[in-house]
Amino acid sequence: MLVVMQSHATDEQVRAVCERIESLGFKALPVPGAGRTAVCITGNSGAVELGSLESMPGVIECIPVSKPYKLVSRDVKAENTVVRVPTPLGEVAFGGADIAMVGGPCAIETREQAFTVAKHVKAAGARLFRGGAYKPRTSPYSFQGLGEPGLEIMADVRKEFGLGIITEAIDHESLDLVAEYADVIQIGARNMQNFSLLKRAGRAKKPVLLKRGMSATLDEFLMAGEYLMSEGNYNVILCERGVRTFSDFTRNTLDLAVVPAVQKRSHLPIVVDPSHGTGRRNKVLPLSRAAVAVGADGLLVEVHHDPDRALSDGPQSILPAEFEQLIREVRQIAAVLGRTIN
Ligand code: PEP
Ligand code: MN
Repeated sequence: MLVVMQSHATDEQVRAVCERIESLGFKALPVPGAGRTAVCITGNSGAVELGSLESMPGVIECIPVSKPYKLVSRDVKAENTVVRVPTPLGEVAFGGADIAMVGGPCAIETREQAFTVAKHVKAAGARLFRGGAYKPRTSPYSFQGLGEPGLEIMADVRKEFGLGIITEAIDHESLDLVAEYADVIQIGARNMQNFSLLKRAGRAKKPVLLKRGMSATLDEFLMAGEYLMSEGNYNVILCERGVRTFSDFTRNTLDLAVVPAVQKRSHLPIVVDPSHGTGRRNKVLPLSRAAVAVGADGLLVEVHHDPDRALSDGPQSILPAEFEQLIREVRQIAAVLGRTIN
């Protein structure tokens, strides 16, 4: 159920509505929009007895929300959410006219490696640097990431180059640390339905980039976003990274159709990861072009200066010069759509 407030409703009126909802035993989550605030009622398993809600001062109407997700839904908020990430080089916004570019290695390996890639990522025009300090690897014998020393290297990258930092948390312990160091907390595909981790990230004070599980339906993807928002974190960026496939020429099948599907149902920004989405270096550029053309709000790209010797995901990492070319090309596609890059 959604309680729609008048555009001139006062904070006090919104608060009174929230208190009434909570006195009925439900949870009230106000969602401020450009024109009006809506108060979302959650915690109800069936229909909510409206009582006198609709006649309270400042209330326009009560609308039943039939979808399983509420806070992520466009029914609750018609206009796009813009997630703003402050970086030393200036703010990066996800979900506005600008399309955000994120580049960096799969994993932070050494200080030299991170600094070398960061220098190129910045020169190409990106203002956000990705890199994993905690790596969820299929094999326990593969490189697992540097842990906190990796986060420290990322903090130094931030200081040295002014780039904002996106890095993955894989469990409760790493989440608390990542939330301290990072500008954006990444929740990986394998953890998309780790509900206790989602709840914890939902209580973190940093934006969350949520990757789609490799076999997650659209509803499951949106419900994972709902977990984050229901804990109070409204700064959620969704990320399509490819789904399990029978294709034998890619690692995953990049499901670009999910971008407009998400945009129809949700106000949250959605970015595309063409690196995991294809698993092949030579497919990253063409799929990046397609992702921007289909309406993605950003690209998350793996870049490495020596991919043949990378400790993780070398075959899908592009070279710095290719990242530069990628940004140059997608900028032209963005312009056709009335969008910009930086
Ligand atoms: C990554 O971004 O390096 C990563 C592990 O991604 P995913 O969770 O999409 O596999
Ligand atoms: Mn990777």
